[in-house]
Amino acid sequence: MYFMSASFAQFELHPSLLRAVAEDGYTTPTPIQVQAIPHILAGSDLLGCAQTGTGKTAAFALPILHRMDRARRPVISGAPRVLVVCPTRELAAQIGDSFRSYGRHLRFRQSVIFGGVSQNPQVRALERGVHVLVATPGRLLDLMNQRHVRLDEVDTFVADEADRMLDMGFLPDLKRIVARLPARRQSLFFSATLPDHIVELARQWLHNPVHVSTPSPATKVELIEQRVLFVEQNDKRALLANLLQSSQASRVLVFTRTKRRADQVARHLSQSGIRADAIHGNKSQSTRQRLLQGFRNGAMRVLVATDLASRGIDVEGVTHVINYDMPHEPESYVHRIGRTGRAGVTGTAWSFCGTDERGCLVTIERLIRRQLFVNTDHPYHSARTPAPGSPRSQVRRAPKRAKAARSRRGS
Ligand code: AMP
Repeated sequence: MYFMSASFAQFELHPSLLRAVAEDGYTTPTPIQVQAIPHILAGSDLLGCAQTGTGKTAAFALPILHRMDRARRPVISGAPRVLVVCPTRELAAQIGDSFRSYGRHLRFRQSVIFGGVSQNPQVRALERGVHVLVATPGRLLDLMNQRHVRLDEVDTFVADEADRMLDMGFLPDLKRIVARLPARRQSLFFSATLPDHIVELARQWLHNPVHVSTPSPATKVELIEQRVLFVEQNDKRALLANLLQSSQASRVLVFTRTKRRADQVARHLSQSGIRADAIHGNKSQSTRQRLLQGFRNGAMRVLVATDLASRGIDVEGVTHVINYDMPHEPESYVHRIGRTGRAGVTGTAWSFCGTDERGCLVTIERLIRRQLFVNTDHPYHSARTPAPGSPRSQVRRAPKRAKAARSRRGS
């Protein structure tokens, strides 16, 4: 488990926020949350080295919502109190969803703005007034230039995925944005990597920042052999049983999308003589502990889990992670496969991708910025046409073509 002794109660967050995270099934704060939340609550500037998938959104959203609620500043048309900038519309939408979700028992208004869609609904939301504005830099500048938004009331500024924003050429936009912020503000900078130019920007834009960092899932991801297996939904059971015949797969974590499927898969494996059980939110804490213990000591070979349950699973020596269902959230992929390949040991991650799940694969590849190898060498390989919009028209792609496809996708 993450920091066994840590709990959200230690942060003295607003009870409504604690209630929301408890309802979401968060029991233990992640390392970045343990490190960052107290400093943000105390009003410090912060430079955080953390990847998506580490729980960093909650690490800044929870203390920001807490401080915002305490300040009780009313909304002003076109003048947000909290500004979060990030590189892509997907991330902006996700951050917006997180604020909405964590703050669902508080009263506040927020909006998300990004390019590529009509600006009118965004302008209307800004006119009504929002406490929290999540934005991509280009559209934000457009709306600033049209005087639909001004930044002189911002008291908290967050730059998320700063390195990616710079990679995408947003530095000039960011400079213009930061120039319009009040000098007196709290600034938080999150970046997956900290090259010199980011540190230099942080030096210019942050005031005495606290530095926090969390082991990046990417370093572990490098140690994990990742394979995608195209398979029809109906063949997944048989494919799993087939793969588990390999004796090397001695400690296997299988992920399903739902609790029900987790139970079904575990039952099926047990019926086939493989020691397996399912762990998910419907099981009591004591049952979960018992199952984890059995998995840890080797009494149980296969543990089938849902994403939520996986957060607390910290078991050494997991040889294989199998995505029985593709995760709908690409970050979950990084989380899931990060259960193997620990402590410098290589691990294997197999992802079962049904024809209807090819879209999930595309978003995962975009997030991890690489194309996964498709293993066609199994008896249930399905060569059915990918979903419309998927750039993957062939199962095996020569490296050069993969690169061309990636650049066409702009990833
Ligand atoms: P992020 O790195 O912010 O994209 O978060 C990754 C995922 O972790 C999101 O799906 C969050 O809902 C989830 N998450 C964040 N903090 C926790 C926590 N303390 N316990 C369980 N899940 C969490």
